[in-house]
Amino acid sequence: MKKRKSRISDSSQFTVYSYNRVLKTIKDWFNKKWAIVLFLCILIASSLILILKTNAKFSNSKISESLVHENKTFKTESAFAQILKEASLSGKIATPTVSLSPALQLSPTATPDLGYCLNVPILYYHHTEPWSQAVTLGHTSLAVDSGIFDEQMSYLTSHGYNTIFADELVNDLVNHIEPPAKSVVITLDDGYQDNYDYAFQSAKKYNVKLSLMVPTGLLGITSGTNTYFSWDELSTMVSSGLVRAYDHTWSHYALNDGNTQKDQFEIMTGQNELQQHLGTVYNIFAYPYGSGATSNIVTDILSKDGFVGAYSTIPGTYQCTSYILALRRTRIGSSPFPAFGIE
Ligand SMILES: [Zn+2]
Repeated sequence: MKKRKSRISDSSQFTVYSYNRVLKTIKDWFNKKWAIVLFLCILIASSLILILKTNAKFSNSKISESLVHENKTFKTESAFAQILKEASLSGKIATPTVSLSPALQLSPTATPDLGYCLNVPILYYHHTEPWSQAVTLGHTSLAVDSGIFDEQMSYLTSHGYNTIFADELVNDLVNHIEPPAKSVVITLDDGYQDNYDYAFQSAKKYNVKLSLMVPTGLLGITSGTNTYFSWDELSTMVSSGLVRAYDHTWSHYALNDGNTQKDQFEIMTGQNELQQHLGTVYNIFAYPYGSGATSNIVTDILSKDGFVGAYSTIPGTYQCTSYILALRRTRIGSSPFPAFGIE
């Protein structure tokens, strides 16, 4: 006990001694001019470091601002990396060196201006038919077994997903509206008869919304091994309230082959025929074969024709206003949904 007490007292004496010594040293320093100069130098250097840090922080906050949607933040770096990857695929991100002054260069990556973004998966299908039929007709590369399609729709319902139409997503993006949690868009391309025979039946069973990308000139015909639903069948589906139809050109034409008049004709004939037969059209487009989605020539034609959203075949789930004319889609095959990131 005694020993311990004396140690404490020694240590406090030492503290007082040290304190006095430090004070004395500082006073001595201030008596010398060079010390004042040194002090000022340190002060200026610290201020400069502080200013640079604040600038870096500000530019970081600008990055996160574009990735934050209201209270929803893309938290992980991998999510951000994914966005960058998707955006760079569309050629929207340039990565020049940011130059603050001729002498001072910072961060080699520019802040991508992605606009307003939503993480909404857009799934896409073509044929939905029994696998045996797909085998017989040679559709296996474009088909999902209709039984599996039915299970996938059931999965959406039992896992709390909310289906929205292709135009609803575009409207949400344009108006900065957050759709209900776990929203997903289900698109079926090309107007195949089996969409009416099977997919539509599942849609009614589970009350899910289907967005059909329709090449209007092919409706009601059979070409090779492909049969397309009729306008009457399309009207029946649309009347159910579970299906909406969107322009996918007139003849399922691959845009951007250099003939802008032909592009214009294909885009607007499809849209006019939808208007004529269904009485309602949306300013939404889907690129046959994904062709033209990254072409300014084609997107300019679409914009001039009044389209505000277009669906590409570029993979991804982050949808941003900066590439609203090349929205990302996830191609679905005959596997349970978790295999495609829908969990
Ligand atoms: Zn197509």
